[in-house]
Amino acid sequence: MKPVLIAGPCAVESEHQLFTTAELLSQEIKRTGIALDYFRAGVWKPRSNPNSFKGLGNEALPWLGEVQRGFGIRVCTEVMTAKQVDACAKAGITTLWVGARTGVNPVEVQKIADAVKEKPFTILVKNPIVPDLNLWIGNIERFLQAGVSQVIAVHRGFANGNENVYRNAPCWEIPIDLKVHYPELPILCDPSHLCGNVKWIPQVAQLALNYGFNGLMLETHYSPAEALSDASQQLTPAQWGDLIQSLTFKTDMPNAELIKQRALLEHVDTQLSELLAKRMEIVDEIARIKKENNLPVVQPKQWQQVTERYLKEGLDPAYRDFLAQFLELLHQTSIQRQQ
Ligand code: PEP
Ligand code: MN
Repeated sequence: MKPVLIAGPCAVESEHQLFTTAELLSQEIKRTGIALDYFRAGVWKPRSNPNSFKGLGNEALPWLGEVQRGFGIRVCTEVMTAKQVDACAKAGITTLWVGARTGVNPVEVQKIADAVKEKPFTILVKNPIVPDLNLWIGNIERFLQAGVSQVIAVHRGFANGNENVYRNAPCWEIPIDLKVHYPELPILCDPSHLCGNVKWIPQVAQLALNYGFNGLMLETHYSPAEALSDASQQLTPAQWGDLIQSLTFKTDMPNAELIKQRALLEHVDTQLSELLAKRMEIVDEIARIKKENNLPVVQPKQWQQVTERYLKEGLDPAYRDFLAQFLELLHQTSIQRQQ
């Protein structure tokens, strides 16, 4: 499968911003020979904060039509209602995406599916903001059952309460599990919304391709620093061209079952390392309390009791030795840190 590439700004901010970005992207396409499949630009923006830029709405739709005709590239935008679907169709925009926020409301998704029923639309279904595979699958099914021309899934990460380095938690096992259920369905990654910052985009984009994702949606703006939404995660068209050229595209998932288990393992290992870091913070706090109260750092009896409890409640007997050694290492490391 040829990789599917989507690029364009988070939102349409003005005619000038839209056409400058499209022009620079088309120059990049000529320079690099990259085939861009869709130009993206949000017209209605579902913002968390009511005071944030909400997009220009209907006013911007004719400009999207112009970009589509002028640059000979299909344009896609986000819809949240059936009315918006009709407005897009009138402007000749028939590639639409359902965003992560709309994705949590099956009733609204169904209304959008009804509006595109049996029509030649391409629908991109982003993952819902909550890590619930069944909800995502349900949304995809609504469009498959509506008989639209093409359905494409987009992984943009999941809300994480900002506890992660990325803006959204990847939970790679979820999109990979989707691939296990729907081997024929193209799945793209949107590293822009996943990362929230351009500095992580190259590594996440490559990882997605290594996992066998079928393409990438990337936010690009002619002047990211001036963007009215998602400024820190948008690439310039030149950065986009360089990035795409630097990536290795695989775009097939030969053994999705195995890749899913590996992703699950990576998830557990990440949690383990985060837990160990948290444990160290607690150890520091204990060290402070001991120091203030003139208590010895090493309290062998206490540790012995704790270890016995862990080992009793512990893993399979086959892992007992491993666990005993691991606990010992943990203890020694904590003592060294406290000292
Ligand atoms: C977007 O693509 O601009 C967008 C709002 O995406 P998401 O729904 O993934 O947050
Ligand atoms: Mn955005």
